[in-house]
Amino acid sequence: MQNKTDLQYFEEQHHLPPFSDFKSLKKEGTRIITHADGHIIYDSDGNAILDAMAGLWCVNVGYGRDELVNAASQQMQKLPYYNNFFKTSNEPVARLSAKLASIAPDHLNHVIYANSGSEANDTIIRLVRHYWGLRGQPSRRVIIGREYGYHGSTIMAASMGGMRAMHEQSANEADFEHIRPPYSFLYQGNQTEIQFAESSARLLKEKIQEIGVDKVAAFVAEPIQGAGGVIIPPEGYFEHIQKICAEFGILFIADEVITGFGRTGNWFASQTMNLEPDLVTLAKGLTSGYMPMSAVLVSDEIASHLIDEGGEFFHGFTYSGHPVSAAVALANLELIEKEGLIEHVRDVTAPYLAKVIKQLDSHSLVGETRSFGLLACVELVKNKSGPVLFDPVGEVGMKCRDHAINSGLMVRAVRDGMILSPPLSFEKQDIDMTIEKLQQALDITYSELMK
Ligand SMILES: *Cc1c(COP(=O)(O)O)cnc(C)c1O
Repeated sequence: MQNKTDLQYFEEQHHLPPFSDFKSLKKEGTRIITHADGHIIYDSDGNAILDAMAGLWCVNVGYGRDELVNAASQQMQKLPYYNNFFKTSNEPVARLSAKLASIAPDHLNHVIYANSGSEANDTIIRLVRHYWGLRGQPSRRVIIGREYGYHGSTIMAASMGGMRAMHEQSANEADFEHIRPPYSFLYQGNQTEIQFAESSARLLKEKIQEIGVDKVAAFVAEPIQGAGGVIIPPEGYFEHIQKICAEFGILFIADEVITGFGRTGNWFASQTMNLEPDLVTLAKGLTSGYMPMSAVLVSDEIASHLIDEGGEFFHGFTYSGHPVSAAVALANLELIEKEGLIEHVRDVTAPYLAKVIKQLDSHSLVGETRSFGLLACVELVKNKSGPVLFDPVGEVGMKCRDHAINSGLMVRAVRDGMILSPPLSFEKQDIDMTIEKLQQALDITYSELMK
């Protein structure tokens, strides 16, 4: 066993981790997470940290669940790997496909597997273009997404997403357009919620008309924008959006990588929000992060064209439909059902979080709090009246996040918003602890700013 100094040295010398400023990371050093149990992660300095981010929005059932560990171990002994290319499949994948079809909205009964949300979205991009080719409209190639949308980090998925910093680093392919999201905190102004829902959705119509309807293939949205800062649409927004998609005959893709698997109090946000997407991206909570796996849910309509007219779809990965990942996913879904985690979110913790997060509203640093299911954001501002944002954006949020982590609470900062996405197994007392520690972090951050 290496001691911690060695591990941190190896990191510093040899590891370039995701989404990191390597220079400042090398200066500050890396936290080595050694183990985790329930809702607590532990680091090599002996700190215990309450994980209010469920890893990276994914550990829905919490850590240390033997059911998932055993499913992986048994499947590895029985069949650790076999491909799905040679007219072959495996037992867990066959069962998982049927299971996903049974919990998904009615018209989504077909599944394509991949290993990450990014790959699933790349798959969707190819699928959408293939579909329009089959329909005799190959000029329909443009996919419209939203600013602050996050769909992954491959070149295509990042181009489809709306993160400008990613576009600027060679992820800005042709045939992707973006509209402003319904981010009420920044953009609602004097509009009522009803007006704001309508005006935000109208941007899609205007964008389609600007591009030319014969060129537009699809609109893609996260029901709740996660990495963009837990942006919750106003009531009615998606109703307008779906009407516009129908009016122009374009496909609607729901990226449910974060909102899937119980986080909004149903299996999928599509059910919570009455969405009828043609394609759905799934990853993260599918396996609670215990194994990498993602999936695309495909509508009956699209599947019928693929099956009847498509010929071979030249796409897939070595690990598409990996039996161990599928076995873990099945065990994960069973556990979510057995423990009633979705009902627990819907009836107990989501309403509770919505109530107690309001305690932070009066804090001098807080411009807005909002939550939906087990997703929440606390927006920090320089001045509550206005509100006036910090300039530059992001520094204060990062400070507050670091104070939270140092006091034993793992949260994430997006711009100057503090983000929560806890495991679905969180109890009321875990939420209380989260709010208490967040309050402390806000207090420390505020007193620093006052100096
Ligand atoms: C995380 C995420 C992705 C990308 O998933 P990876 O597994 O990191 O490739 C895509 N869409 C959404 C909404 C996500 O949150």
